[in-house]
Amino acid sequence: MKDAAITGKTIVCGVIGDPVEHTMSPVMHNTAFRQLGLDYAYLAFRVKGEALAAAIKGLKALNIRGLNVTIPHKVTVLPLLDRLDPLAEKIGAVNTIVNDAGVLTGYNTDAAGFLQALREKDTEPRGKQVLLLGAGGAARAIGFILAENGAQLSILNRMQELSWAEDLAIRLSRSYDIKVSFGELNAENLRRAIDGTDILVNATSVGMTPGADRTPVSAALLCSKLVVFDIVYNPFETRLIREAKDAGARTIDGLEMLVWQGALAFELWTDKKPPVEVMRQSALRVLRYEK
Ligand code: NAP
Repeated sequence: MKDAAITGKTIVCGVIGDPVEHTMSPVMHNTAFRQLGLDYAYLAFRVKGEALAAAIKGLKALNIRGLNVTIPHKVTVLPLLDRLDPLAEKIGAVNTIVNDAGVLTGYNTDAAGFLQALREKDTEPRGKQVLLLGAGGAARAIGFILAENGAQLSILNRMQELSWAEDLAIRLSRSYDIKVSFGELNAENLRRAIDGTDILVNATSVGMTPGADRTPVSAALLCSKLVVFDIVYNPFETRLIREAKDAGARTIDGLEMLVWQGALAFELWTDKKPPVEVMRQSALRVLRYEK
């Protein structure tokens, strides 16, 4: 491993969001840069909504190689970019920007990272019935990548924002000419929908620290024929994942999606094969430390 000194030639990447203090991306990326001996550094920049346009101009002016984009900028950053990857354009959200000599292209590696994490566990979405819980930012990216890859989808979201589920279902139906059902996330709908489900995805924040004692699906509904993917990564083993394991289901945790979205961004910025295991271990160390 090469020494990590910052030099006059160091290439800078980073993340913009508000807040950014708890992001694990700097640890994952800097560890990966060091592992490959790359003269790169990754920093977290807290950028308020009103400063977003200036920050994107600054990205060009300072010749920063690339950025991750997190809450609350994933949608509002779109019109500030020069090009969009077709999938990011369909989703309407960007989490990675690549700066090629002043031309900024937006990607959505949350979506691609989710798919990669699924495939790493030998699960191919084509022809599978997926029950997607949630209709927020992450659910939107996941819904599009699943529809793009031939899955059949049902979406359940809590009553409070049922219109988000309806909106996502309509957009997916129009984009891919498929039928997407949607409804309220409640015990009765869950029981009914889970019957024909192959892959259950929790894209709500239920079960996330400090609410780690909660689960969006009661243990009685889980069974061994399901693949259960919980995108919540803090705690790294959620109650849903624990109970799914107990029921004999195949499980995929949120850390896998987090690591793969980072790995794919790393590859876009460096054109190098990402050291995925090193990135995973560095993120895991942070999660264990924060517990
Ligand atoms: P978001 O846009 O705020 O969406 C949150 C979703 O959770 C919405 O569907 C919301 O429903 C639902 N929700 C919140 N509280 C709920 C409750 N008490 N009961 C039922 N549903 C509830 O957030 P996001 O960016 O999509 O993130 C969602 C989760 O995914 C977070 O835990 C985040 O850390 C995680 N995440 C993981 C990765 C990864 O790489 N593993 C990437 C992105 C996000 P309403 O629509 O009714 O508000």
